[in-house]
Amino acid sequence: MKKNYLTSSPSQTQKIGESLAKEILRDGPRKKAYVIGLVGDLGGGKTTFLQGFAKGLRIKDKILSPTFIIMRRFKNFYHVDCYRIQKPEEILDLGLKEIISNPKNIVAIEWADRLQAILPKNTLMLEFEFIDEKTRRIVVR
Ligand code: ADP
Ligand code: MG
Repeated sequence: MKKNYLTSSPSQTQKIGESLAKEILRDGPRKKAYVIGLVGDLGGGKTTFLQGFAKGLRIKDKILSPTFIIMRRFKNFYHVDCYRIQKPEEILDLGLKEIISNPKNIVAIEWADRLQAILPKNTLMLEFEFIDEKTRRIVVR
């Protein structure tokens, strides 16, 4: 994955997500789940990115912005959205630690900065920035 992207449409953002997923599928065995953290502006494209990401994982279900649900599971892919959580304990109560300890799992966490203290050190952090109506910057940290 490159370090920096400027995208000018939702579908372009989805394509970037899709190619990251395919890269992950090509990767060799892991000791723990593959975790990506998505941070940055509301409307920055985090959920849009994950729609393409799920497609790249060959998941057919539609990825939506969860309203009250914090975590959704699609086979071995977990979509977590921390927008509404007040403290990390809420998500730990859902069993996130066990999920992360399973190398078969792939976990994508929106608003991952709210869980900073409990994220694995090697979490791939993606930062989404709203530039204008159609333009978003994605930076890999
Ligand atoms: P987040 O999950 O970061 O809050 P969403 O993906 O839910 O953001 O929303 C992004 C919104 O911005 C969507 O309505 C999408 O159609 C729109 N959009 C416009 N241009 C882009 C782009 N280049 N990349 C991603 N989303 C875009
Ligand atoms: Mg979102």
